[in-house]
Amino acid sequence: MRAFVIWCVPLAQGRKVIDRCNLTILFEPGQEDLAEFLAAQQVEIVASLPCYSLENVDKQRGKGTFDKSIAALQKLNALGYGQPGSGLTLNLVFNPQGATLPPDQTALQADYQRELFEHFGIVFNQLFAITNMPIQRFGSMLVSKGQFNDYLRLLKENFAAANLDTVMCRNLVSVDWQGFLYDCDFNQQLELAIPGQGRPHLRDLLLQDLQGHPINVAGHCFGCTAGQGSSCGGALKEENAAA
Ligand code: SF4
Repeated sequence: MRAFVIWCVPLAQGRKVIDRCNLTILFEPGQEDLAEFLAAQQVEIVASLPCYSLENVDKQRGKGTFDKSIAALQKLNALGYGQPGSGLTLNLVFNPQGATLPPDQTALQADYQRELFEHFGIVFNQLFAITNMPIQRFGSMLVSKGQFNDYLRLLKENFAAANLDTVMCRNLVSVDWQGFLYDCDFNQQLELAIPGQGRPHLRDLLLQDLQGHPINVAGHCFGCTAGQGSSCGGALKEENAAA
């Protein structure tokens, strides 16, 4: 992974290089200098922290996860991540724990900032509140609890057309480890190819622009359009307001 980052950073030319970082990995054997490496490369960090309370995090991720996550965030802060003027961006991710929509992102971010700073002296840039997609592990969990249809109904009932212009498949593509392209990470997980193009590859972008090309949509897409909207950068409503 480090060789890939070193290769990407000089090519970025103003674009961001982002590590979606599992906070506890920073203390795994052999990864003790990972935070310093990412800081030296000016890599932006997006890290999942499902709650600001020990009880909720350990319940969801396992005993001891909260303390390790807090220690990791303090280490990142000490390196400059999340600190004003450092140029090192640290964003956190919240996902609901059950079959509900995320709460208002702006209000939740204020809660995270207050609680993490007051109790642990931690600062960060933004909180992304991301809707759980009814696929893969979360989808299986819904099926096993008999909640799948209710969750899909909730997503559909909260459909907001204003989100359609800013869903991430409108301006991003997802690339798998072999270089094949998908409309988004979710479609990649579901192996839903970009329609009508065979199996487009990264190299094809040298010859062909995918701008304006049809997008492969299905029921899971209601996860992106419900309520305040959801993308890898959190709620879409801020983007819609800025547009
Ligand atoms: S899940 Fe659907 S709406 Fe969301 S980014 Fe992917 S293709 Fe677009």
